[in-house]
Order: sequence, then C-alpha cells, then structure tokens
Amino acid sequence: MGGLTSATCDHRGVGHDWAEVGERCWVRRYPEWDVNVGVVAGSHHVLVIDTRGTRQQGESLRDDVRRLLPHPQVAWVVNTHQHFDHTFGNIAFDDVTVVAHENAAAGLDASADRIRRLCREDGPDDPLNAEVIATALRYPDATFSSVRTVDLGDRYVELFHPGRGHTDGDALVRVPDIDVLFAGDLVEESGPPMYGEDCFPLEWPTTLDVALGVLTPGSRVVPGHGAVVDLAFVQHQSTDIAQVANTIGGLVHAGVPLESALSQGDWPWDPEHLREGVRRGYAHAAPPPGRLPLLSD
Ligand SMILES: [Zn+2]
Repeated sequence: MGGLTSATCDHRGVGHDWAEVGERCWVRRYPEWDVNVGVVAGSHHVLVIDTRGTRQQGESLRDDVRRLLPHPQVAWVVNTHQHFDHTFGNIAFDDVTVVAHENAAAGLDASADRIRRLCREDGPDDPLNAEVIATALRYPDATFSSVRTVDLGDRYVELFHPGRGHTDGDALVRVPDIDVLFAGDLVEESGPPMYGEDCFPLEWPTTLDVALGVLTPGSRVVPGHGAVVDLAFVQHQSTDIAQVANTIGGLVHAGVPLESALSQGDWPWDPEHLREGVRRGYAHAAPPPGRLPLLSD
C-alpha cells in the first residue's frame, strides 16, 4: 500500500520494518507465514496485537517493539484468534495482560494440539517446526464475549467479536481515533482466506458484515496476513466469502453429495483451497435425515 511511512530502522541495517498506519499505530509484516503484528501506543500504555508463532518469534517481537518505542510500556496483548501464528509468542509477554475472545481462550489447547500434530507430521527436525512444537502455551489473562475497551491513557482501543467466521473466537481490534481496524484472519490479503477445520463458512459473510459496518471509505484495515487494505478490498473479499457460503447452501439443498461439491460448485478460489471449508459447511448446513433424497429427485 502506498502512503505507509517507516517508523524506524533496524539498527543492524535489516531495513524499514514498522509501517505507521495512523498516529502512534504501527504494523509489522513478518516473513514467517506473512503474519502481521500491530502496536498501538497511548500516553500511558502500549497494546500489541498478536504475538507471532513461536517463543523465539515472540521474544524477537518484544525486541522489535523496544526498538520502535524508546521506553515502551507494553501493558496489553490482544490475540485476534487462537491460531498459533497469532498466539504462541504470548509466552514472551509474561508480565503483560493478554486478552482474547472467550472462545479463543477456550480453544487454544485444541488449536495448539492440531498445529503441533501437523508440525510433527511435516517433520519435527525442521527448525521452525521444532520451535512451534517446543513452545509452551501462555493463556489469556482476560477474556470478553462481545465488546470491551482497553484504555491506553489518552486514547482507547475497542475489541469486539463480530461473530464466527475464520474461527469461533475471532476478535476485531479498532482504533477509533485514527479509523484503523485490525481484522485478524477474517480478512487476508496475501492469499484467499484460510478455511481450516475450525472455520464457520456459512456464518463468515454476516460476521464480515459487522466488520464492514464500522468501516469508512478512509479506513485502513490490517489483515491477519499480507498488506494493509481498505474498505473496497474487504467488500470484495466479503462478496467472495458470501459466494462460498451460498454455493455450499445451494449444493446441500440440491442434494449434491459432499464428494461432488468441489467439482460442481462455482467457487471464487481454487476448490482445493476450500476442501475443509466445504466439509465444514456441509456439516453445519445438513438438513434433517431423509430430506436429501427428496430434494435430489
Ligand atoms: Zn488463523
């Protein structure tokens, strides 16, 4: 995105890494999984949004925040959802209050078990996989169910749960005085949104409608992965996400079996990317037993 200004340089000359998306609000895009981390500074406290995917990455994030702000008082961490690439770095923020949606906190163990299993299957000797496997969980200290605010001194940040979508614990982080929204993985820029085995594809469109409701033409939206986007981008992605939900619903009601759904549906992305999402959608949309054969006549 144009218009981003670099806030600081790494002293070792690595480059311009923090991008200021609004007054005293920065984003840093890390190469591992192309994940974004946010920082919002107030007169009294600093809030960090997501903590990367391993203990080591969390520690390097803390160092990066220290370089960004001369005397940062990081008092708050918000996890946008339970997935490892947004939460496993929590362990490096032991003296900070970590906040997440109540479902994200409750689902952290199961989500961690899944990613550790995948890392073992992928190859436990891979250094990055080994880091993920070895990272201890650091659970949220505080949770919320619908909305809460965090006071940073001369400004505040809103956290709200717009509904289920990418997971059941998605949180949006809004910085109202600068019209910036951190969207977690409800919005992705570097690729299609991730439909994993804990997603809610049929509810995702209405969840995004809630997000769209707080955006303006001047909003800057920080996706969980990729470049900073705007209202038009989120509207477009919301249309695609609605197409997935509508296609699943149409196929279910037409009696198309799950095994044929990927080949028969009209999908906005490579159907293979949607395999798990379609399976989830079928499970959530399934009509009562006995109805499918009638519809498929
Ligand atoms: Zn995620």
